[in-house]
Amino acid sequence: MSAPAAAKLLTVEQARDAVLALAEPVGTEPIAAADALGRVAAEVVTARVSLPPWPNSAMDGYAIVAHDTTDATETEPVELRVIGDIAAGAAPDVTVGPGTAARIATGARLPDGADSVVPVEATTPLDADGRPGARGRDATGPLPSATLVHEAVDRAGSVRAAGSDLATGATLLRPGNGLTAAAVALVAGAGVDSIVVHRRPRIAVLATGDEVRAPGEDLGPAGIPDANGPGLRALVTAAGADPIDLGIATDDLDDVLRRLRDGLAAGADALIVSGGVSVGPYDVVKTAIETIGRIDLWRVAVQPGKPFAFGTAQRPSGGAPVLLFGLPGNPVSSAVTFELFVRPAIRALAGRHDLLRPVDRAVLGEPVSKSKGRRAFIRVVADLDETGAPVRDARGRVLVHLAGGQGSHVISALAAADALAVIPEADDSLPAGADVALWWLDRA
Ligand code: AMP
Ligand code: MG
Repeated sequence: MSAPAAAKLLTVEQARDAVLALAEPVGTEPIAAADALGRVAAEVVTARVSLPPWPNSAMDGYAIVAHDTTDATETEPVELRVIGDIAAGAAPDVTVGPGTAARIATGARLPDGADSVVPVEATTPLDADGRPGARGRDATGPLPSATLVHEAVDRAGSVRAAGSDLATGATLLRPGNGLTAAAVALVAGAGVDSIVVHRRPRIAVLATGDEVRAPGEDLGPAGIPDANGPGLRALVTAAGADPIDLGIATDDLDDVLRRLRDGLAAGADALIVSGGVSVGPYDVVKTAIETIGRIDLWRVAVQPGKPFAFGTAQRPSGGAPVLLFGLPGNPVSSAVTFELFVRPAIRALAGRHDLLRPVDRAVLGEPVSKSKGRRAFIRVVADLDETGAPVRDARGRVLVHLAGGQGSHVISALAAADALAVIPEADDSLPAGADVALWWLDRA
C-alpha cells in the first residue's frame, strides 16, 4: 500500500484492493457440525458415509422383483405372497424372491432379492382367505397375507440406490465455503460430526467525540446519542464477526490511545474508530492510530465516505497485522464506508472468498444529483409487491426510490433503505428512469 498523492482520489476498487491485500484469514478451530451455521470451512470436508448408505425405499409399499409385474394391469393384477414387514431402521430379515413381496416403509432398507418397490397406492391387500381389502390401504394396517399389484413396475422403481446422493469421500465443503443451513445438513447428513472452521474474527469498535453520549445518558446542552458504536457493532455481527466494545472516547489523544490499546490487548483482528478522523483541531484519531501503528488518510472518490483512513498495527501476539479503520463520524458515512471497505475485509478475515455483495440492476424513480468525480452510494427503497418481493420491469430491473434525505447525517433514510444504488463517478446528476447498479443491504 502506498500513500496516494494528496490531489489524487483513489477509486473504490483501489482502496478496497489495498485493504484486502492485508486481510489474512484468521486462525482455525474444530467445531461441531451442528453449530457451524455462518462459519467458514478451513479444510476440505468429505463424506464419511455414502448417502443413502444402502438401497432404500422411496415409498410406502412392497419390495418386489419387478419382473413379476410385467403383465400386471389395473383389471388383471398380479398376486404376490407377503413374507415380511420392514420398518425404517430395521435390518430386513427376509429375502424376496419371485412371487413374493415384503411390505416396506419409506426409508427402510431394501431386502435382499428385491429390485424395486411398488407403491401401496397400486396394490390391494388380500387376507388369509383371499378376501380383498381396500385398494391402496394404509401401509400401517395389519400385515396382509398377499397383495395384488395393479401396474407394471420398473426395475429400481421407487428405490434410492446406495450412494445415489453422495459417495463416501465426496467433497462436501472446500476452504472458504460458508456454512448455510443446507451445508450444515449436508455435512451432518454425510456422517461428519466435527469440522475445522475459521474462528470468528474479533472486531473492536470505538466511537469518538466529546459530544457523543452513551445510550440513556443525559445529552446536556450539546450532546448526541451514540449511533455509530451500536450501529457498527451490529454491522460487525451481521458480517459474521464478534464485536468488541471499546466504548466512547472523548476527543483526547490519551483516551483514544488507551482504548485502542485495550482493543489490541483483547486480541482484536481489526479496530474500527468512528469520528475524529478529519484534520480538524479536535481530530486526534489519526495521531492515535499513527502512535500504535501506521496509517494512511485516504481520499477516496466516494460519496458519502470522506474522510476514510486505513492502516495496520502489529499484533501483540505476533502474526498477521491488525487492520485499523478510521471511519467518518457521520452515521451514514460510517455505515457506507463499512459496507465498501470493512465488510469485505471482515469476510476475508473470516476466510471467505466471496467478499462482495451480488450486484443487481435498478431503475431510479426520481432524478438524483451528486458530486461529479465521486461514486455515490445513495440510500433507496425498492418497490415491493404484497409478498415483499421486489417489483421488476420487463428487463428485470428493480424500481427504486430515494429512501429519504441523502445527507450523510440522515440515519432515518439509512434505516429505511433496502439497498444502495450506485451512481457512477462521471455523472453529476441522473434523470428518473436511469439504469443503475444496486447493492441490496441485509434485511431484518
Ligand atoms: P467527525 O467525523 O468526528 O467530525 O463527526 C462528524 C459528525 O458525525 C458530527 O456531526 C458528529 O457529531 C457525528 N458523530 C460522530 N460520532 C458519532 C456517533 N458515534 N454517533 C452519532 N453521530 C456521531
Ligand atoms: Mg468528532
